[in-house]
Amino acid sequence: MNHRPTPTRRTILTGATATVIGFNTTTRTWATTTDTPTPGRITPLPPIQGTLTTDTTTRDTHAHDFGRLTTTTPYAVLTPTGPADIATIINYARRNNLKVAMNGQSGTGTELESHSNYGQAGVAGGISINARALNRIHAITPTNATVDAGVTWAQLTDATLTHNLTPPCLTDYLHLSIGGTISVGGIGSTVHKHGLQADTVESIEIVTGTGRILTASPTHNPTLFHTALAGAGQVGIITRATLKLIPAPKNARVFTLTYNDQHTFLTDQQTILNDGRFPSQIGEILIQPNGQPPRYKIEAVAHYNTTTPNPTPLLTNLNPTTTDITDQTYHDYTHRADTFADTIKNLGYWNAPKPWLSLFLPATTTPQFLNHALPQITPQDIGAGLLLCYPFHTNKLTHPLAITPNEPTTYLFDLLTFPHPDTNPQPALQRNRTLYNTATQLGAKRYLVGAIPHMTPHDWQTHYGPHWTTLTTAKNTYDPTHTLTPGQNIFP
Ligand SMILES: Cc1cc2nc3c(=O)[nH]c(=O)nc-3n(C[C@H](O)[C@H](O)[C@H](O)COP(=O)(O)OP(=O)(O)OC[C@H]3O[C@@H](n4cnc5c(N)ncnc54)[C@H](O)[C@@H]3O)c2cc1C
Repeated sequence: MNHRPTPTRRTILTGATATVIGFNTTTRTWATTTDTPTPGRITPLPPIQGTLTTDTTTRDTHAHDFGRLTTTTPYAVLTPTGPADIATIINYARRNNLKVAMNGQSGTGTELESHSNYGQAGVAGGISINARALNRIHAITPTNATVDAGVTWAQLTDATLTHNLTPPCLTDYLHLSIGGTISVGGIGSTVHKHGLQADTVESIEIVTGTGRILTASPTHNPTLFHTALAGAGQVGIITRATLKLIPAPKNARVFTLTYNDQHTFLTDQQTILNDGRFPSQIGEILIQPNGQPPRYKIEAVAHYNTTTPNPTPLLTNLNPTTTDITDQTYHDYTHRADTFADTIKNLGYWNAPKPWLSLFLPATTTPQFLNHALPQITPQDIGAGLLLCYPFHTNKLTHPLAITPNEPTTYLFDLLTFPHPDTNPQPALQRNRTLYNTATQLGAKRYLVGAIPHMTPHDWQTHYGPHWTTLTTAKNTYDPTHTLTPGQNIFP
């Protein structure tokens, strides 16, 4: 049987000349106005305001992510005008056994892509939603901002700084979609004060896997709210969020403290964390050539408007080998990764495979893990990248699916490698898997971002521990057909 519905004026465009009229559930291909009729049943596509595109170029831009380690080509790309289009497409996908996922399409200029590392936004053979189509900042008040999910943290920060306001927690690199980072967590240098970016969300608008457009907050649909944030896109597609804002400082005084030994580095990190003397705190491990011991660095930042902070009390009881103090505007500090990104792009490393590994280590076993892992990591592995390592208190995190070790303090271990573009990524992927196995035996948890191959259902169950039930119950409620976000590979 061949049903060929008549396209309406608002149905969906594709390629240069054709219009998608429906999905052929027999041949599992899209039927367009220019196709020669093929046998099979075509389910007519309901009208939408946006566009559904099936041309190869557009699908290719959604087939890869920043990690350049996977290929997940969708059947089609939805450019929505709002949540109603997403709801229509989710309902259509459910009826036709198609998968749907939001793709952050973050970055700068024309270089937009998902900044996932291992296909987390991928939806092979399904429908990928272009988040960048939802790009409006709706309101900025003295205490919060309401934005579409495709707005980047850079766009929001630039807008709020003109009101002397800032999001409390910013990722190191700002050109990431707000919907993307709050779906995975979103960590940055102020996590020890404000929690993850997901913890700074006051309310969301979300399209569930059952195609319902809902709002959610801690008091309204709280289960949906708490399982959407840091929930890996498993219960819904976040279309809008209201995010907390705080007064922005004008300047940043950056203290760069270096260390030759790990013990003093970790002790000073803990001292700074415990007394909260710096509003911003990160750390880095500097892998040395020829098997020499690593060096360590703390970057702690004090904020100010006019009077530069006195270094003496800020450095009390710290024992770095060297101390360097510089001042810059708060804006420049928040955008500090831009220069780094430009350098990497100019070197030609940006578009090469990057097998990143992001873990949360329990503070008590962090030295043991570092002593095991660091000798296995060479300067060639790191390439033009870096290895971040800094602590925060786990009680700052408010959403159950933002999983960290069962200890008061955790260390982010963030292996952000940019190997030489000719490097075969397979050994590094295997290294990630092996380090993950060791880390979990020491009580660590993975961050949802990064590239850890061969995650099994048992691995995920172990990862979520007591919150596996939280996740599966929410999944069964809000996405019972498992339509959403297959690239996270949590529900294969
Ligand atoms: C250069 C660089 C620097 C980074 N720095 C940091 C950092 O400092 N801190 C940090 O925490 N992370 C950092 N990351 C990782 C970042 O958090 C992830 O890349 C994250 O996935 C956000 O990227 P994205 O906005 O492109 O979203 P995507 O990667 O496209 O999406 C992430 C996941 O969420 C889903 N998703 C996306 N949008 C939505 C939505 N609106 N609703 C529901 N699900 C959605 C996707 O399907 C996917 O599963 C960095 C990444 C890069 C490449």
